[in-house]
Amino acid sequence: KTEAPDLVIVGAGLFGLTIAQQAVEKLGVRVHIIDVRDHIGGNAYSYIDPATGAEIHKYGAHLFHTSNERVWEYVNRFTDFTDYVHRVYATHDGEVYPLPINLGTINQFFHAHYTPAEAKALVEEQAGELAGTDPTNLNDQGISLIGRPLYEAFIKNYTAKQWQTDASELPASIIKRLPVRFNYDNRYFKDTWEGLPEDGYTAWFEKMIDDPRITVSLGTDFFDESQPLNKKALLEAGVPVVYTGPVDRYFDYQLGELKWRTVDFKEVRYDEDDHFGCPVMNFSDADVPYTRAIEFKNFRPDRADEQSHDSTVVWEEYSRFADRDDEPYYPINTDEDKALYAEYKRLAAEEPQVVFGGRLGTYAYYDMDKVINQALIAFDKQVAPLLER
Ligand code: FAD
Ligand code: UDP
Repeated sequence: KTEAPDLVIVGAGLFGLTIAQQAVEKLGVRVHIIDVRDHIGGNAYSYIDPATGAEIHKYGAHLFHTSNERVWEYVNRFTDFTDYVHRVYATHDGEVYPLPINLGTINQFFHAHYTPAEAKALVEEQAGELAGTDPTNLNDQGISLIGRPLYEAFIKNYTAKQWQTDASELPASIIKRLPVRFNYDNRYFKDTWEGLPEDGYTAWFEKMIDDPRITVSLGTDFFDESQPLNKKALLEAGVPVVYTGPVDRYFDYQLGELKWRTVDFKEVRYDEDDHFGCPVMNFSDADVPYTRAIEFKNFRPDRADEQSHDSTVVWEEYSRFADRDDEPYYPINTDEDKALYAEYKRLAAEEPQVVFGGRLGTYAYYDMDKVINQALIAFDKQVAPLLER
């Protein structure tokens, strides 16, 4: 490393990788990416489990889906996608139901053979207690969407386990994205395209930054002044920086901490080919302490030849409030958090040579396609002008 880079990117997640790829392709600059972790890919990183051949998503199951044509074309430059279609099942009161709530779920739950119109009329009647209101919290939103019986069976306890906050204090937006269907369509996502990267997430990410002008330093913390690419040194040298770490951490938590939820994963191994028969099993009831279980082998039926047939690996997910040292996963986003983030955003806008991005840098829950889209836009609007200066 004889020459200083033109751009330093803090974080090798999808936001940082997309910025790096664009900077090299569009402006031919030299980019140095640092990440405190020992791998690239941020939260979308995965690895192969030697015992079963399963591709384990280290920070929780990641399914790619998008309706954004620009993003779909962009990601397909670096990887092909399998024809995987995401489907989720839920165990409630000793029975397995299809999700998201659809006519199959409704008919099984009520032991009925309703037509779409009949099911709709029933749900409307059961949601009637909140008719004409505009629900602002998750409890009221849930009931008005599917009626109280289905809400109590499939949403109430799951949400309590996931958020440990009373549903009447959670924003309605959390479940607005869960569809309810009065037909038997149980595709989890409504997007135009979905799939899993054919050769795994890591191969995709490596391809994005496969260029001699991009250097990556892992195990390197932006705030560690014993390494040369630290905050203080870079700001003093006037090097442009794209920062995708937590925005409150950048400012030393000077206004307070933004609140996050984290997930603990408990790994369980079974000496059988297939434990659940599907990749994701949600547990709707309070007596099972975890929210859902992920059986990674079942994401990749196309890899049957490379995966074990007498062992399988499952991760159970336990959700809780995050401390400063935990991995921040889901922004809690109370009104207080939102106000605090607005203040940090003002501070961030005053940093002349730093662009803040990604889910940690902007305190938001974004799916991968949203993060890529934002990085493509941020590159053109913010990063390129900074580099051209
Ligand atoms: P990150 O991936 O978090 O990358 C930020 C990087 O910055 C990290 O690698 C971190 O180590 C690094 N960093 C932070 N601080 C420092 C520092 N001081 N110095 C150096 N490096 C630092 N999206 C989907 O589309 N589909 C899904 O199914 C899906 N499932 C998800 C499940 C879970 C449990 C979670 C949490 C997220 C899921 N997502 C999913 C969202 C997806 O993970 C994000 O959209 C994506 O990872 C965001 O990329 P990013 O670059 O913004 O952040
Ligand atoms: N949810 C639920 N029951 C389920 C699945 C989801 O109540 O079986 C609610 C829950 O509040 C959750 C929200 O819907 O936080 C969003 O679910 P999704 O599966 O999109 O969550 P994620 O994959 O982001 O954890």
